[in-house]
Amino acid sequence: MAVVNLLLAALIACSHAPVGTLALGDHRPWPPALAALVAAGRLRTDTNATVAASTDFGNITSALPAAVLYPSSTGDLAALLGAANSTPGWPYTIAFRGRGHSLMGQAFAPGGVVVHMASLGDATAAAAAPPRINVSADGRYVDAGGEQMWIDVLRASLARGVAPRSWTDYLYLTVGGTLSNAGISGQAFRHGPQISNVLELDVITGHGEMMTCSKELNADLFDAVLGGLGQFGVITRARIVLEAAPARARWVRLVYTDFATFTADQERLIAPRPDGAFGPMSYIEGSVFVNQSLATDLTNTGFFSDADVARIVALAAERNATTVYSIEATLNYDNATSVDQELKSVLDTLSFVEGFSFQRDVTYEQFLDRVHNEEVALDKLGLWRVAHPWLNMFVPRSRIADVDRGVFKGILQGTDIVGPLIVYPLNKSMWDDSMSAAMPSEDVFYAVSLLFSSVANDLARLQEQNQRILRFCDLAGIQYKSYLARYTNRGDWVRHFGTVKWNRFVEMKNKYDPNKLLSPGQDIFN
Ligand code: FAD
Repeated sequence: MAVVNLLLAALIACSHAPVGTLALGDHRPWPPALAALVAAGRLRTDTNATVAASTDFGNITSALPAAVLYPSSTGDLAALLGAANSTPGWPYTIAFRGRGHSLMGQAFAPGGVVVHMASLGDATAAAAAPPRINVSADGRYVDAGGEQMWIDVLRASLARGVAPRSWTDYLYLTVGGTLSNAGISGQAFRHGPQISNVLELDVITGHGEMMTCSKELNADLFDAVLGGLGQFGVITRARIVLEAAPARARWVRLVYTDFATFTADQERLIAPRPDGAFGPMSYIEGSVFVNQSLATDLTNTGFFSDADVARIVALAAERNATTVYSIEATLNYDNATSVDQELKSVLDTLSFVEGFSFQRDVTYEQFLDRVHNEEVALDKLGLWRVAHPWLNMFVPRSRIADVDRGVFKGILQGTDIVGPLIVYPLNKSMWDDSMSAAMPSEDVFYAVSLLFSSVANDLARLQEQNQRILRFCDLAGIQYKSYLARYTNRGDWVRHFGTVKWNRFVEMKNKYDPNKLLSPGQDIFN
């Protein structure tokens, strides 16, 4: 095993030029402040540790760190960051690896130190220390360790009859990881992204200083860290807003063959009423299916029966449709007697193809944890740990029809597509522009997630296709913002944030991580 790891390490070291200054095995003696961590086996340089921290979900790029820290407490993290700042000539960058579900090495520290965040939770569990997920006595918020996964936050909250309001589609992601991006799913139209649902954070800054921050206390750090791509410090605790947890979700899919009708209905469902309140639907997303893979992709949703799939395929053929669209929505409920009527009153206002609405009824947890079933099924087939050249964008409402025309009805026609194409609108009013996350300027913008899997030795083709899609958007003048992207040059980052936000980002970087040590895998300052 060790030999295999060494070979793997050598291969990785050879095939990727690390941006750090150190080659494999070239690490210098650790400063005395870290000797205890080395002695306790918590700061490791062996290849079992470093190779495991050198890859991510994207499976496209890899980079070997010099060492991995397995912190047993936030004190260990502060010791590392403190030593990094007080040691003259400290050579290592530092990345915080939540679960490594990044796509392009954003949680890597080439030649540096990767912090294996999960150890914080493991160590406290093993030591019977206070658990790192605590629901408040009044059930209004939960304090969760930055290393905790959302699935565990959900379960701990549900045990008290409460739950966070804003989610990601997949819950085996960490609190610190998604809050460093934005954290979006179909609830965001009414509750904002996850970063809009945080009351307070504990952060250890690039100086190694532990700081509590909120909108009232150290607000500049709070705003910078939320959507801040791990640039300013490590989130060790987040206080997240809770609501009463519904018992069940009525889960519907509505089918369209016309894009304008599909998006008009989506926008009707997410629009605030004149009094500012939202309609009854709890979650709104949408999918695009292109003709050549229609039956397979409908089946892969896990939602439609074989008979439903056959009907939708027949509908597309009858209408000569090259694309089919589907709104996915839920209505959460406790009271089984009123949900049918309430749902009917919403569906009656919509213009999906008559007879093409499909329903399921599941517990709230089953709904939120729906992607995990796909993970298990794909993993069994060997299709989960493949390369994932995903493309995620926020597109202004005024240009979403151009994306349909140029991408769904254009570039993606006739090509093999494996993976969901997700499209849904968000209300900008639910985002806080003083936070770091970048978004388009229009009041409504669409999340467009093209979640391609490379299963046929076709990574290069898919990457080239992504480039064509971006080129199309650029040439058409679509002012999109990338989500979860990693740019490799400064000019692209400046354009991504816009001048005002970029200047603020740099100011906060100079204040909280002046040595530019943190999250080098994002390629912003390194
Ligand atoms: P990592 O990938 O390990 O880290 C991401 C970045 O955050 C790194 O730069 C890291 O240094 C930094 N970081 C990690 N932890 C901390 C911390 N505690 N403090 C400070 N910085 C930290 N995103 C959505 O918004 N919506 C979705 O529906 C969604 N679905 C997804 C489904 C799948 C199957 C996958 C793989 C990803 C999905 N994502 C989604 C993307 C997800 O938000 C990112 O992958 C995110 O990075 C979280 O992954 P992670 O917790 O493993 O963090």
